[in-house]
Parts: sequence; C-alpha cells; structure tokens
Amino acid sequence: MIALELLYQGKAKSAYVTEDHDLLVLRFRDDTSAFDGEIIEKLSEKGAINNQFNALIMNKLAENGIPTHFVERLSATDMLVKRLDMIPVECVVRNKAAGSIVRRLGIEKGMAFDQPLFELFFKNDNLHDPMVSEHHVEAFGWATRHEISRMYELTLEANTILRDMFDQAGLDLVDFKLEFGRFYGEIVLGDEFSPDNCRLWDKVTGESKDKDRFRQNLGGVLEAYRDVAGRLGIVFDN
Ligand code: ADP
Ligand code: UDP
Repeated sequence: MIALELLYQGKAKSAYVTEDHDLLVLRFRDDTSAFDGEIIEKLSEKGAINNQFNALIMNKLAENGIPTHFVERLSATDMLVKRLDMIPVECVVRNKAAGSIVRRLGIEKGMAFDQPLFELFFKNDNLHDPMVSEHHVEAFGWATRHEISRMYELTLEANTILRDMFDQAGLDLVDFKLEFGRFYGEIVLGDEFSPDNCRLWDKVTGESKDKDRFRQNLGGVLEAYRDVAGRLGIVFDN
C-alpha cells in the first residue's frame, strides 16, 4: 500500500491517504516538539526509532487482546494503520508522580500511587491540552459514557501489560499517554506509544530514558531511546 495524498501533518507524524479509504500511512518524522509545540527540533533518526518501537508495542498489546490501529510496518519510518475517527482526548495513566501532576498538585516527584491514576486531557495545543473530566468529554460530545469506560479499561489493561514488560527490561513505567478512535463502531487504540509519550526511569540509576531528556535539555535523547529499544530486543532497519 502506498502513501498518496497528505491528509494532515501533526507535530511528529504525517498521515497520508491510501487507495483504501479505511487505511492510512503514518509517517514518523524526526521533528520533536515540547511545550505544546513551542519548541521544535529535528532529531536525526528519531522517526525511524519511534516507528519501530511503536510497531513492537502495538504488536505486544494486540497479542494481549487490545484492539489497535496497527496493520503493518511498511518501512523504517512508515506504518500502515486503520483510519480512525479520533477522539480528541489524551488518556494518561500514572503509576508514579511526574510532570504536570507534580506542578498541579504540589506532590513529590516519584511518589508511587496505590493504584494507577487515570486522567483525561483535551487535545488542543492552543489551550495547552487542559485537563478535563469524563463529564466534560461526555457533555461536549467527544465520546459517550460507554466509549469513555472502554478507553479507561483499555488504558489500564495496556498499563498492566507494558509495566510488566518494561519492568523485565529494568525500567519503571512512570506514566504514558494513549489516544483512541472509532473504527466501525469499535474503540481502537491509535496514534503511538514510544518514548516520546511515556516516562521510563532506569530502575537502578533512576535516569530518564524518555522525552524528558529533550524537555529538560539533558542531552542523549536518542541514545536513551535506543537503549530502551535495545533492552526490548528491537534491531533497527535503516
Ligand atoms: P500531534 O497531533 O500531537 O501534533 P502527531 O504529529 O503525532 O501529533 O500527529 C498524528 C496525528 O494523527 C494526531 O492528530 C493523531 O490523533 C492522528 N492519528 C493517529 N493515529 C491515527 C489513525 N489511526 N487514524 C486517524 N488519525 C490518527
Ligand atoms: N504526554 C504526551 N503528549 C502530551 C502530553 C503528555 O505524550 O501532549 C505524555 C507525557 O510524555 C507523559 C504523560 O503523557 O508521559 C503525562 O504527561 P504530563 O501530564 O505529566 O505532562 P507533561 O508535563 O509531560 O507535559
């Protein structure tokens, strides 16, 4: 399947229509953004790393019964996906406190939650992705109550699967963000899971192995992404 016309260009990926109306090509670019697009930089090979990382994660989730948009990887940077009617909310799950929840609630970074904490954010860069409740999501018609419950259930299931997988690789899965959409009436996981949208801390050293290295200007961003991928057994195509 080949990418025909550009459908839309996000901050890190471009989506192309194909000859099949139900399928899109997602191209992972090297662009890296932080703070709702205020900072954008190109990190050479990041697109290829995230595409291949995401393919492994989507396969792992699908094997464990999570419906995903992933069809197949087409090249180093491209994947074929089901074209979803995206729900404009970010589903975040947190096992430990970091990032916005620390700033918002004044809690200590690294504090472990007794049970995974689920949060919803309205996907809107101009408004800086504000936190919303499931009542806002329902009231604004972004998703039905049933769809919200399904996103909650699938996000928590993904957390259980991935937390265990990263734990075995010596990494603490601190938090992550997922996006869902509809495909013929079913709620399906879309977008990506990569070190761009999760927090992973080395279990021994506590070092960040994710996009916080970029956000905090710590350097070694792609070295960290490659380290994580290597621990999961990913061998990259060029
Ligand atoms: P952003 O939207 O944050 O700038 P990206 O650069 O990652 O991020 O853009 C990818 C866009 O593609 C996002 O808007 C995402 O919601 C959308 N998307 C991801 N997967 C699918 C899919 N399977 N079908 C339709 N749209 C998708
Ligand atoms: N996240 C994301 N995209 C966003 C906002 C957050 O992928 O637009 C991810 C982020 O990488 C982290 C988790 O969601 O793994 C929680 O992010 P947080 O709310 O702490 O916001 P941040 O401070 O990272 O902007």
